[in-house]
Amino acid sequence: MIYIKNLTKVYHSDSGDVKALDEVNLHIKKGEIFGIIGLSGAGKSTLLRCINMLEKPTSGSVEIDGVEMTSLSPNELKEMRKKIGMIFQHFNLLTSRNVRGNVAFPLEIAGVDKKTINQKVERLLDLVGLSDKADSFPSQLSGGQKQRVGIARALANDPKVLLCDEATSALDPQTTLSILNLLKDINKKLGITIVLITHEMNVIKQICNSVAVIEKSRVVEQGSLLEVFANP
Ligand code: ADP
Ligand code: ADP
Repeated sequence: MIYIKNLTKVYHSDSGDVKALDEVNLHIKKGEIFGIIGLSGAGKSTLLRCINMLEKPTSGSVEIDGVEMTSLSPNELKEMRKKIGMIFQHFNLLTSRNVRGNVAFPLEIAGVDKKTINQKVERLLDLVGLSDKADSFPSQLSGGQKQRVGIARALANDPKVLLCDEATSALDPQTTLSILNLLKDINKKLGITIVLITHEMNVIKQICNSVAVIEKSRVVEQGSLLEVFANP
């Protein structure tokens, strides 16, 4: 599903160059929940953002569903991004829109007709268990509820891949568990490939099939959960 080859990302700043990713190679299979774990500053966020080209890689390639992401025109990239949903640590909801409006947003951008939008939003809110909060605003929701809205919004364009950027890091342990269970459920029901980055081993152990360990800009290990974390 996702092939990352020799991916390198160098940030240029006033204080010098930072190599955030150094020749990273990853293979993420269709339908799996793939976890990327590492300490703060290891390069996780850069790696995730290079998958949907929110960051432009310095060199290397990212292939998703047979499409080379680094050589797309702006229009082609816009189309590809519909296949890639993303959720965030701090949810990134639109505060001026209610729950329904937040989930409808990517569909409006994509030019979907109103009737289809309404039907789809109902279905998505049902999927994430928020039908009774459709008219609430983000400020009226708990953290877990906000992330459910984030998930519903990320799924609006029927993506094939869901990227999760520290999606449970702002949540308490019990809420974390319920969000992870929802992600597992979505993976199973919709067959979506999930890629998540985290600094928490618990998250990896809860839901991942495969894992990569990133240390100082390099992937130092990858494989099934058992292969990577079995005691020697
Ligand atoms: P993680 O997500 O694992 O915490 P990041 O990918 O955010 O790691 O950061 C990796 C390295 O790249 C860090 O040294 C960080 O300071 C640097 N970095 C990240 N984003 C930028 C940026 N926009 N400009 C310059 N350096 C950056
Ligand atoms: P905004 O006022 O910024 O457009 P809203 O949250 O009021 O944001 O509405 C966004 C979209 O959500 C609308 O275009 C509409 O399709 C849908 N929507 C909002 N409220 C309802 C509702 N009560 N019933 C059905 N659809 C709604």
